Amino acid sequence: MKNEMRLEFDSISANEAFARVTVAAFMTQMNPSMEEVADVKTAVSEAVTNAIIHGYGGEVHKILIAGEIDGEWLRLEVRDQGVGIPDVEKAMEPLYTTRPELDRSGMGFLFMEAFMDEVKVESEPGKGTAVIMKKRIRQQEE
Ligand code: ATP
Ligand code: MG
Repeated sequence: MKNEMRLEFDSISANEAFARVTVAAFMTQMNPSMEEVADVKTAVSEAVTNAIIHGYGGEVHKILIAGEIDGEWLRLEVRDQGVGIPDVEKAMEPLYTTRPELDRSGMGFLFMEAFMDEVKVESEPGKGTAVIMKKRIRQQEE
């Protein structure tokens, strides 16, 4: 089974819950476990929060989530057109944060990598950031 969706919304924190609940609803057709849903919701939250806080620095612009189900695989892309990341490898290191004054701990990418099977980041300074995440969802027995 193949299925695609696109979701575009403003970069305000009220939409973090909207985004994770919507992605959770999209993936229910894969018959996931509660744990798998929780994992995906956490990863989506982290990526969306990053787009709001870091990508757009609190300004309101659009965030796009593209979702795709392909058999057992869920693919999610969270995209902003914000400031971008100059050094992706460094940004993905545990505990690395550019906003310690906002009480950020630099754990976001670590969570995404822990809860998803694959995380890839494409970013260009001045153009924006795309976080592409994949997770294999094993069908639950009815
Ligand atoms: P935490 O997620 O624990 O609150 P954090 O957001 O700083 O802290 P990560 O989510 O791991 O930690 O992100 C690490 C760093 O990568 C950020 O501090 C920021 O510099 C950069 N970053 C992440 N996402 C984006 C983005 N969408 N646009 C620009 N920079 C980003
Ligand atoms: Mg973060």
